Amino acid sequence: MLLKKEAHRIAVEVLRPCARELDRMPPEQRILPGSPYFQAIGQLKSLGYHRMFLPAPYSDSDTQVSALGRAIFLEELGWGSLGLATAFGVDMLPFVLIAMFGSDELKEEVLLPWVEDTEGKYHGCWGATEPDHGSDGIMSLRDESGLTFGKAQVSIQSSGDDWIINGQKSAWVSSAPIATHCALHVQLAGEENPLHGMFVIVDLSSEGVTLGQPIQMLGARDDPQGEIFFENVRIPGKNVLVANSPFYGVFIDQLLCATSSNIANIAVGVARAAFEEALEYTRRRVQGGQPIVNHKNVQLTLYSMFEKIETARCFARQALAFLQGETPKLDDLSQDEPQSPMGISNFLSSPRHARCAQIYAKRIAFEVANDALQLSGAFGLSDESLFEKLFRDARSLWIEDGTLEVLSLDAARDLIKNYETDQYVPTEVIQRW
Ligand SMILES: Cc1cc2nc3c(=O)[nH]c(=O)nc-3n(C[C@H](O)[C@H](O)[C@H](O)COP(=O)(O)OP(=O)(O)OC[C@H]3O[C@@H](n4cnc5c(N)ncnc54)[C@H](O)[C@@H]3O)c2cc1C
Repeated sequence: MLLKKEAHRIAVEVLRPCARELDRMPPEQRILPGSPYFQAIGQLKSLGYHRMFLPAPYSDSDTQVSALGRAIFLEELGWGSLGLATAFGVDMLPFVLIAMFGSDELKEEVLLPWVEDTEGKYHGCWGATEPDHGSDGIMSLRDESGLTFGKAQVSIQSSGDDWIINGQKSAWVSSAPIATHCALHVQLAGEENPLHGMFVIVDLSSEGVTLGQPIQMLGARDDPQGEIFFENVRIPGKNVLVANSPFYGVFIDQLLCATSSNIANIAVGVARAAFEEALEYTRRRVQGGQPIVNHKNVQLTLYSMFEKIETARCFARQALAFLQGETPKLDDLSQDEPQSPMGISNFLSSPRHARCAQIYAKRIAFEVANDALQLSGAFGLSDESLFEKLFRDARSLWIEDGTLEVLSLDAARDLIKNYETDQYVPTEVIQRW
C-alpha cells in the first residue's frame, strides 16, 4: 500500500508534469541536458526505483519487492506517463541482464555505476528492430518464416578477443538519442538466420557509434526515439552476454516474456488514467441541467471501461507473477506449485500468457482511451486536455514492442504447438461430445 501511494505521488507530482512539458516540446529540445526527461528519470533513480528489478545482491531489502509490488509500480508509471514508463523499462534492460548473465568484471565496470547512480547519468536502451526488420525481427522468431529473414542490418564479427559491430538499428529505439549503453541484438556476419546471433552490451560513447536525432511521433513523445549507427565499433569479449548458441533463441523468447509482462502492466496504467480522467470529467460536465454522469449511456460506458481495466489488470499481474516464478500457469494442469521462489525470472515463463497479457492490456488501453475521448466531447480533442495525449499514447501501444497482430500470431503458434489438453479424457468421449 505504501509503495502504491508513493509511486502514485511520483506519478502525480513528477511524471505527469514532466510528460506534459515533453509532449509539447520540439523533439530536439527533449534531449537537452536539464530537460524534464532527465528531471523525471533522475527523480526515479534518486529514490532507488531502478534497483527494484535487480536480483540480490544489487537490490536490497528496501528495494526488493514481489511481482505484485512490481506490477503496482509499473501501473503507476503508466498512469503517469507512457513515454517515461517505457524509458524506465528500457533503461533497466541492459543492466538487469548484466546482473543475470554478465561476468564479474562487467558487473564491476558497467552495472555498479548504474546501480549507484542517483542522478540519471547512465541510461540504457534496447536495440532490437532494424529499418528492414520490424515484425520479422526477434518479435516473431517462432514463425518459420524467420528463416527467410535474410541478412540483419547489424552484424558482428570476431577480431582476436574483441568483436566488431557494423550497421544500423531502426529509428524507433526508445531512449536511444540519450542512452549511454545499449543491449543489442546482432547477427553473425555472413549469416542469414536471425537465430545465428548474439546479445551484447555496447557502451554508446565508443568510437564509431552515432546516435540519431529524436523524431516526432504520434504518441509516447515523452520518450525520445532514434536510430543507432555502428561503424566498426569494437567491443571487448566480456560484453557478450549471450553467445551464438541454441540458448540465444530461448533467451529471446524469455526476454520477450519479460518485456510483455512489464508493458502489460504499464498499459493498464494508461487505461486507468483515461478512465479516471473521464470519471472526473463526467461528474463535473453539466448538460441538460445535470452532470452528464447521470445519463445512462455515460454510466454504461464508464462501467464497460472499468470492467476492461479490472480484467486486464488480472492478466497483467498474473503474467508478471509467472515470470518471477511466483505462481503456476493457470491453464497447466500438471503444475500446482510455483516453480521457483521469487526471483528475476525462472526462465520458464509462458510466451502465450505473457503475450496474451500484453495484447489484451494494449487493446483495452486504446478502447478505454477512445471511450474517454468520446465522453469528454470537443474538450477532449483540444490539446489543453489530457484525453488527447492518452488517446495518442494508447494508439502507439498497438505498435510499440510488437504489433498486436504479430504478437497474437506468436501467441497462437505457442498455443497450437504447446497447449496440453487433458490426457485423461478417453478419445471416444471427446468424439461423442
Ligand atoms: C513507441 C515505440 C517504441 C519502440 N521502442 C523500441 C525499442 O526500444 N527498441 C526497438 O528495437 N524497437 C522499438 N520499437 C519498434 C517496434 O518494436 C516496431 O515498430 C514493431 O515491432 C513493428 O515493426 P515495424 O514498425 O517495422 O512494422 P512492420 O513490421 O513493417 O509492420 C507493418 C504492418 O504489417 C504487419 N505485419 C508485419 N509482418 C507480419 C506478419 N509476419 N504477419 C502478419 N502481419 C504482419 C504488422 O502487424 C503491421 O500492421 C518501438 C516502436 C514504437 C512505436
